[in-house]
Amino acid sequence: MKAHEIMEKRMAFSFEVFPPKTDEGMTKLAGKGGVLEKLYKLKPDYISCTYGAGGGNVGKNLEVLDAVKASGSVIPITHFTCIGNTHEGIKQQLQTYLEHGIDHMLALRGDLPFGWTGTGGDLHYATELVKFVRDTFGDKFTIAVAGSPEGHIACRSLEADISFLKQKQDEGANFIMTQLCWDMDQFRRWVDAIRKAGVTLPIDVGIMPVLDAAATINMALSRNGCVIPRALAEIISRYWIFPNPFAPADDAADTKKAAFKEAGIEYTIRLIDEYRVCGIAGIHLYALNKYDDVARIVLESGIKDL
Ligand code: FAD
Repeated sequence: MKAHEIMEKRMAFSFEVFPPKTDEGMTKLAGKGGVLEKLYKLKPDYISCTYGAGGGNVGKNLEVLDAVKASGSVIPITHFTCIGNTHEGIKQQLQTYLEHGIDHMLALRGDLPFGWTGTGGDLHYATELVKFVRDTFGDKFTIAVAGSPEGHIACRSLEADISFLKQKQDEGANFIMTQLCWDMDQFRRWVDAIRKAGVTLPIDVGIMPVLDAAATINMALSRNGCVIPRALAEIISRYWIFPNPFAPADDAADTKKAAFKEAGIEYTIRLIDEYRVCGIAGIHLYALNKYDDVARIVLESGIKDL
């Protein structure tokens, strides 16, 4: 069954991993007894793998997805971007994915590398990529597209962003995978707004486990411009270790890190509860190539039994 068909029947549950840069990282992720094998035991419907901007790490992306495909029980989904890609290059790469039995993709514009003003390729936006894939491959691919509940960080307006999401649907996308959003009021407003705009696609919610203060702040502020709600800000301020090179070593640093993670896991689980009662079609956990903390979130939140 295709991912969006699962979502039409029940709530789906999935993980996202990234291609490791080293062989050692690859063995830890995709080797025997590695993270992927452990994640399969949690019975996700699909596992997606990110695609480096400008084609970096693409080979390892395919290696990771080959491993997922070989599991026989989990759908592999590749992320795919317009960055630096020509029409011919896109055609060849997507044909290779099909030959490897990978027929699900997340069609993205991609994050522009620092200093770039455009994609440096033949296509400029995800809308164009969805159209190109449908024109070239027909219905061979199930296509997911990104949705940003707070508006993409560089969007002209939330209304403009929603109109481009509608365009992705009109070009043939099958479901939405969302950017992380901790602001539940904004998430509910966005769902109302996209439905009013005629976007009917299933919504698969992207959830970043809150495990580390610096990574959480970096992800929110420098990458996506997300609002940090009061409850999350309180956790960060309670356990934040101020990176001051002139300050004496913080003896409590390790204790604070562990306490942050504990509070962050609880926060993530409560967030999943809130999402699950919003009429969404799937929970997509950014697994960050980790198992233990992610498994705890899956088991304690109850999403394994969806
Ligand atoms: P688009 O939908 O093309 O939007 C980009 C911007 O342009 C927005 O501001 C939008 O409002 C505007 N826009 C869209 N269409 C038009 C148009 N026709 N005319 C004018 N303006 C337009 N990045 C990676 O590099 N690799 C990954 O693996 C990756 N994985 C991701 C996974 C998820 C679940 C999500 C949500 C994002 C991921 N990203 C990844 C990040 C994503 O590539 C960035 O957010 C990127 O900046 C925008 O991609 P998009 O597909 O949303 O772009």
